[in-house]
Amino acid sequence: SLTLGIVGLPNVGKSTLFNALTSNEAVAANYPFATIEPNVGVVPLPDERLEKLSEMFDSAKVVPATVSFVDIAGIVQGASEGQGLGNKFLANIREADAICQVIRVFDDSDVIHVDGRVDPRTDIDTINTELIIADLQTLEKALPRLEKEARTNKERRPALEAAKAAKEVLEDGRTLFGSGHGSETPELRELNLLTTKPFLYVFNADEGVLTDESRKQELRDLVAPGDAVFLDAKVEAELQELDEESSRELLSSIGQQEPGLNALARAGFHTLGLQTYLTAGPKEARAWTIHQGDTAPQAAGAIHTDFERGFIKAEIISYDQLVEAGSMNAARSAGKVRMEGKEYVMKDGDVVEFRFNV
Ligand code: GDP
Repeated sequence: SLTLGIVGLPNVGKSTLFNALTSNEAVAANYPFATIEPNVGVVPLPDERLEKLSEMFDSAKVVPATVSFVDIAGIVQGASEGQGLGNKFLANIREADAICQVIRVFDDSDVIHVDGRVDPRTDIDTINTELIIADLQTLEKALPRLEKEARTNKERRPALEAAKAAKEVLEDGRTLFGSGHGSETPELRELNLLTTKPFLYVFNADEGVLTDESRKQELRDLVAPGDAVFLDAKVEAELQELDEESSRELLSSIGQQEPGLNALARAGFHTLGLQTYLTAGPKEARAWTIHQGDTAPQAAGAIHTDFERGFIKAEIISYDQLVEAGSMNAARSAGKVRMEGKEYVMKDGDVVEFRFNV
């Protein structure tokens, strides 16, 4: 499954956040047989629609989609030159599908900042510069080979051009993500660069920032088009220890409606380009993870690979229409349930029953 790699300067709250991610009991309860790696934190994607479906279908349980975060040891200045964690660290980021950067915004004189002050803009620059330098090194190595290939094989010219264009962006101090030269191009994908990956920024903030909309907007603007999430990692870790009522009290005491991990899960899902569709029956009401743009047979493949191969058609109704109808039978009688074929592109919130040959 797709993962987001957590990076950030030392002392910004990565471990604290990761502890909150891994002590999530909802996941442990729903996935008792899943072998979860020690450096992977799995968060459920909150989805109120599942509760509603489980009532309608009298489902025995609810199974939400999840998002996985991988803890990658702290980046330090000079990492890409081998002064810091070097190659092992870069290899770990390379394996992740998106980069989740934790940035310190909280003030605490007891927690030393590596540069002696809290400055999100400079911190983001420090991290991104390291990633940019690593990509430039990759390109320096690849370019002579690409030039040779392009000389003898016309079909390799686009790959060379893409690499040259990418080099210009990076030399300009910009990440490829958000530059128009992202991982969407297959020519760049083969180089497995770091900064083509989508970025998600987690601002580890205290109450003052969490309730200050204009400050949050400033920070959002700073990282656009990357997604931004604001949370207090220490509070998130504490929330995992509390029952529901105490959780709600703690959240409202810092002016929050819901745990920051909920927002993090949604943003992580979005950053990875994922979406869900829903199934419901007496056994379970469940959200299944697919890519944005997946077709109905690909969606069936999320349940079982045989279902993709044997796909015949899908009975689909949007969640909103189903709720309006009150039940699947009522929706069928009203002609609201559509039969969709192999070409159908899934929409978020589709409630589905697949028909297939096995
Ligand atoms: P890491 O080096 O990025 O993994 O940072 P840690 O998670 O180890 O946190 C460094 C220190 O900052 C620890 O003493 C944490 O308790 C503290 N810390 C982490 N998050 C917060 C926060 O949101 N607010 C405050 N005040 N302290 C925090």
